[in-house]
Amino acid sequence: MREIVHLQAGQCGNQIGSKFWEVISDEHGIDPQGQYHGSHELQLERINVYYNEGQNGKYVPRAVLVDLEPGTLDSIRTSTYGKFFKPSNCVFGQSGAGNNWAKGHYTEGAELVDSVIDIVRQEAEDCDCLQGFQLKHSLGGGTGSGMGTLLISKIREEYPDRIMNTFSVMPSPKVSDTVVEPYNATLSVHQLVENTDETYCIDNEALYDICFRTLKLATPTYGDLNHLVSLTVSGITTCLRFPGQLNADLRKLAVNMVPFPRLHFFMTGFAPLTSRSNQGFQALSVPELTTQMFDAKNMMVACNPGNGRYLTVAAVFRGRMSMKEVDEQMLKMQNKNTSHFVEWIPNNVKTAVCDIPPRGLKMSGTFIGNSTAIQELYKRISEQFTAMFRRKAFLHWYTGEGMDEMEFTEAESNMNDLVAEYQQYQEATVEDESVYDDDEEPLEDSQGSADYPYDEY
Ligand code: GDP
Repeated sequence: MREIVHLQAGQCGNQIGSKFWEVISDEHGIDPQGQYHGSHELQLERINVYYNEGQNGKYVPRAVLVDLEPGTLDSIRTSTYGKFFKPSNCVFGQSGAGNNWAKGHYTEGAELVDSVIDIVRQEAEDCDCLQGFQLKHSLGGGTGSGMGTLLISKIREEYPDRIMNTFSVMPSPKVSDTVVEPYNATLSVHQLVENTDETYCIDNEALYDICFRTLKLATPTYGDLNHLVSLTVSGITTCLRFPGQLNADLRKLAVNMVPFPRLHFFMTGFAPLTSRSNQGFQALSVPELTTQMFDAKNMMVACNPGNGRYLTVAAVFRGRMSMKEVDEQMLKMQNKNTSHFVEWIPNNVKTAVCDIPPRGLKMSGTFIGNSTAIQELYKRISEQFTAMFRRKAFLHWYTGEGMDEMEFTEAESNMNDLVAEYQQYQEATVEDESVYDDDEEPLEDSQGSADYPYDEY
């Protein structure tokens, strides 16, 4: 068995994390008491990836829940799933991180981190063959972002050869009014670039836009945003949870998706997008799903893939459908858009099909793209960061916790480097020549050449 240890930190991390467990437990036939009531043997075949088997046939999530204040964990404890998580795997402080990355990373979080690592170590030791870790957190606050990245670096130190994977929620002023979020996010990205193998970016700006524009919700709540997150994350993890799939473990996924170690930030997308009340009323076809999956409006990151190029893509289709039709549609999509896939990575689109659809849908598609267009997200955060940092606004909150201004400067330049690297590969051609001036609009005529791999099909 290839087990994953799951961690969730901070308010956002715990909210999207507990939703993740609700959704996957439902898919695997596990009730809130941890008992199996499923109907299909496939549900249990790879159950050990995410669950431990406890006494009396109880399935227990291999999850560690962390927060620096008790509120969010309290509400999980009093919810339907209150008895689901192992109580000793819930670790919380009283002080809070006050949306301050430095408190999470250097002071309050640093005090609590060893007790969390002890639990992680125990879970890892109980595994037969641990494949790696996944952390769910936001980058805009203090706990998930500051303490979350501290946890990552401690785990990395102890398990350097295991995969580290994060689901990271990026901040947006459309959703939150905390002004220091660009600081917290930039300091976090600085850590994620070096210490994770795969980061799935979930951007609150995109979630908000989807709720508002596509789902027509006038005032989206976190519940609405998190519904989108849970659809996406359940889709992304399908291949890990059900047997016989492409990219069936974290390492295979990383090998396929990450051509350069720093460029491991994925755009995610989901189709069909339907409001909760409309779920189950839609009949969909494979061509429609494919079109929607590649549509900028369905991306959970507020970036337009049309402005960049895909280094790699993985698509996960769920439900009963013809494999042949899926392959045809995916190929058609690539052939129509050759200029948006780098031609120097042949066969850079992988497709998996899983028979079991998510609840309430006959079929769905989840999209994972390593696109150079993700630089738009980092540019957005970087501009917000620089505007404040130029005047050293709010810096005293961080230096007051012992942080050095230098770390801000380094984080800023690391993120700018990341943007430049994406741009470099966006412009790279098969001959490895950069033919564009910096201020010129990239692309259009360098692709679609005879070298394009799909032309041969
Ligand atoms: P922490 O508890 O210190 O880690 O702080 P939070 O997780 O509350 O971080 C604040 C950031 O997370 C802001 O950008 C919020 O918009 C975002 N956030 C908080 N809760 C949720 C949630 O349930 N869902 C989503 N999508 N974002 C959230």
